Amino acid sequence: MLRERLNQVEERIHNAVERSGRRRSDITLIAVTKKFPAPVTIEAFDLGLRHFGENYVQEFEGKHAAVASLTGAKFHLIGHLQSNKTRIAAELFRVIETVDSEKLARRLDQAGKPLEVMIEVKLSEEESKAGSAADTLPGLIDAIRQCANLRLTGLMTMPPWSDDPAQTRPYFRKLAALAQTHGLAKLSMGMSHDLEAAIEEGATHIRVGTALFGPRPKTG
Ligand SMILES: *Cc1c(COP(=O)(O)O)cnc(C)c1O
Repeated sequence: MLRERLNQVEERIHNAVERSGRRRSDITLIAVTKKFPAPVTIEAFDLGLRHFGENYVQEFEGKHAAVASLTGAKFHLIGHLQSNKTRIAAELFRVIETVDSEKLARRLDQAGKPLEVMIEVKLSEEESKAGSAADTLPGLIDAIRQCANLRLTGLMTMPPWSDDPAQTRPYFRKLAALAQTHGLAKLSMGMSHDLEAAIEEGATHIRVGTALFGPRPKTG
């Protein structure tokens, strides 16, 4: 099952890369394993996947022991990070994609572990969305660059949900423009339903869950 789904996702990536004159090696596929148990991560690893996205620090804390021996696996935190969880997040994750305040950056820095970070940018007016507003980016970028343990590599965004990629494409374009303005190389954007649009707009990291693993198990 996973093997077929992975082949389908790879084919979609391949087609989008071709259309946009890019290379497959420009794109990192992050397998989003949130809400799935550790054996799913291990199965994906065995099929060659190396980047994994998790949303909840606490959930990943529970799975971590079971996946810690997967040599070469890189775990990205792609969900909102609360400042009281920075220390454990710095222990568990290689990349924190959701830094959205100076306070959070300083807390992560204080954990004392070298970390790659990205800034989550909020490009819509939605009340509920986490992320740093575009106009606060310069200050936040400066603050992160002063953190000795943090290496800022890019921007991440999660547009308002729409099943129509035409609706999310303008957000991807905006994020790419911001990254260029600020000299940041990596762009984490695009999910199962709109990865093509994201790749066409310059994504370097796509975060794919459902298209690889099917619907997530219901919790609670
Ligand atoms: C769940 C999630 C994804 C993956 O979404 P799918 O539609 O299942 O591919 C990507 N990014 C973030 C931030 C998520 O929370």
